[in-house]
Amino acid sequence: MDDMLTPTVLKQAAAFHGHLGPWLVLGLKAGAYARRKLAASPFELRARVFCPAGTPYTCFVDGVQFSSGCTMGKGNISHHRAAGCRVEFTRRDRPGRVRLALRPEVWTELHARPSRGMAGAARLGREFAGRRLAELFTTEGRGRKGVRE
Ligand SMILES: [Zn+2]
Repeated sequence: MDDMLTPTVLKQAAAFHGHLGPWLVLGLKAGAYARRKLAASPFELRARVFCPAGTPYTCFVDGVQFSSGCTMGKGNISHHRAAGCRVEFTRRDRPGRVRLALRPEVWTELHARPSRGMAGAARLGREFAGRRLAELFTTEGRGRKGVRE
């Protein structure tokens, strides 16, 4: 349950990004998970996001920025054009790495049922916010002890 996003966080993130949608929520979840897993401050984390260029995929980048604290301004996030959607977080100060990849079935779902307009996107975003992280991503990482999960 600890990967649930509160309504307040969703509201603040939507204000930052401009609207609420499933790709933003996916980024929020991924970033929050990495912060917690790597026990890192926004200055200690680095994020590399792999997804197609352009919206709605890059809405994911804003979600990652908002929840992980890795931002363009601090220079600790980068976007790399790729098929599919995944993100890798590392610590700048010591070993530690978390990788999340969007599950293929979620990718398919998002393309099979495109949301209609802003209201539709917001509705789907809220729905995604209630899903467990494991339903959305596969995860892999090395924590503080360097133990592979
Ligand atoms: Zn968006």
